[in-house]
Amino acid sequence: MLVLDTDQILPSLSCVIIMFCLGPHWCDLAPAWALWYLGSVKEAWTQADQRHMQRALALARRAARRGEVPVGAVLVDEVGRVLAAEHNQSIALCDPTAHAEILALRKGAAALGNYRLAGTTLYVTLEPCPMCAGAVVWARVNRVVYAAADPRSGALGSVTDLGRLQGLNHHPRVEGGLMADQSAELLRSFFASRR
Ligand SMILES: [Zn+2]
Repeated sequence: MLVLDTDQILPSLSCVIIMFCLGPHWCDLAPAWALWYLGSVKEAWTQADQRHMQRALALARRAARRGEVPVGAVLVDEVGRVLAAEHNQSIALCDPTAHAEILALRKGAAALGNYRLAGTTLYVTLEPCPMCAGAVVWARVNRVVYAAADPRSGALGSVTDLGRLQGLNHHPRVEGGLMADQSAELLRSFFASRR
């Protein structure tokens, strides 16, 4: 199913304006426009995507109740089986590496009996930091779906993009923005309550 959101409104308006300016000649360029327009229209999130991100958000809320930075992560294998569902536990475990993603990758690898997590998808409520993005690449995670972007330390596109580093032999597919508002609000209220 295809959906229109704000990202698609601009291309739509642009098409109309260009067609108007070119008059009857617009149809000569129709095939090229069709490709350009379709490239700007993204697939809707699947029900599975939404279900797994809802679970990650529930885990993030649990983290907040425990005083941890509210980030949750769910790791799913290629047939949709949940391998791990974790939230940040850096304070509880006294471990700076105990981010939700790292814990999920460790548990998922143990479940699979393999340190390489080929075919898996990692759902996480916040764009991974450099440590977690690096671990995602090293673990060969196939796809990462994150909710809110992190303009301060996001390492899958915001501050840097470790998923696209030349020279590395694995580049995960990365998609952001699923339920971003809910995650951003959770983080905002968590940090506001601690000021
Ligand atoms: Zn991290």
